[in-house]
Amino acid sequence: MTRYIQRQKKLMRLVQKADADAILITNFVNVSYLTGFSGDDSYMLVTSERTIIVSDSRYTTQLEEECPELELAIRSTSITMLEMLQKLHKKLKFDRLAIESSSMTVGIWQQLADAFPAVRLISTKGLVEKLRVIKDKEEIEETRKAIDIAQKAFKVITASLRPDKTEKEVADEIEYQIRLFGGRKTSFSPIVAVGPRAALPHAIPGTSRIEDSGFVLIDWGAITSSGYMSDLTRVVPTGKIPKKLLKMYEVTLAAQKAAIAAIKPGVRAVDIDTIARDLIRDAGFGKQFDHGLGHGLGRDIHEDFRLSVKSEDVIEAGMIFTIEPGIYFPGFGGVRIEDDILVTRDGCEVLSSVPKEMDEVFNI
Ligand code: ZN
Ligand code: ZN
Repeated sequence: MTRYIQRQKKLMRLVQKADADAILITNFVNVSYLTGFSGDDSYMLVTSERTIIVSDSRYTTQLEEECPELELAIRSTSITMLEMLQKLHKKLKFDRLAIESSSMTVGIWQQLADAFPAVRLISTKGLVEKLRVIKDKEEIEETRKAIDIAQKAFKVITASLRPDKTEKEVADEIEYQIRLFGGRKTSFSPIVAVGPRAALPHAIPGTSRIEDSGFVLIDWGAITSSGYMSDLTRVVPTGKIPKKLLKMYEVTLAAQKAAIAAIKPGVRAVDIDTIARDLIRDAGFGKQFDHGLGHGLGRDIHEDFRLSVKSEDVIEAGMIFTIEPGIYFPGFGGVRIEDDILVTRDGCEVLSSVPKEMDEVFNI
């Protein structure tokens, strides 16, 4: 049985638990995960007996190549997606159809309800996403690749950080280097934030220049050709470093390491978050860390698993997520240190390896 058929079978168990006898997959990332198809604009209909991908003729060849085992329903331009689904319904005869509430618009829901008056539509949330949280061997290898590409790009970028470069120029170079090293593109728009701008956790790269401050925060990542992502953050010294920033860095690093040291299967995500949050609070920076400690990572940059104050998630082997505490002072600057972590059977492995120790980063 291929990994895709295994995934489809696991999904059907969840669908049946949700009291449905079929599911319509409308999230294209989930379609890729369930089939290996790398294109867009295709839906998927899964019942316990059959799996059919509903696409159009632009994708026929690609689908035949990438998913040879899959049953295809290719519609011509004269047939709408909805009409195609009606045709399939006659063959498959489902009565209770699960839909993905996070990717379905109210408009499509309404059209479906009108087109299938006898079918009960059952709203489900995150069924495929739940499966995606645990990575298999190939997915772990792909993530390693995404990290490797990002790290190689970072090395080139930091070696050529000239004082007159703007944040935007550095961000554009990251995009370019990631592609040169084999990435499809960056996994999100890189953040390059000089000095005070590093206090904005989601700063958009602008016209500030490297020479405007003694440090720059870079948050970046790559996506591989098969769709797996990395997500890393480092603070890079570029001139005179304020003492306050060193203190912030020291505390952030200690919090990150303490959190990582406690990661293993069975531990609650909230408890890992608390370890980092308490350490930062006890150092006097409690109010300056106001975002989650980390998030699941894979085919999306923010996947279902969360490490935060409110998280109810429990850590399991095979998960990949970020650990990224930060300390931010508006008007002064910010520190965030972010690595990608794989949960192993008895602990965890830090997959990323960009230097982060005080002496490595600041030469002290
Ligand atoms: Zn990040
Ligand atoms: Zn992140």
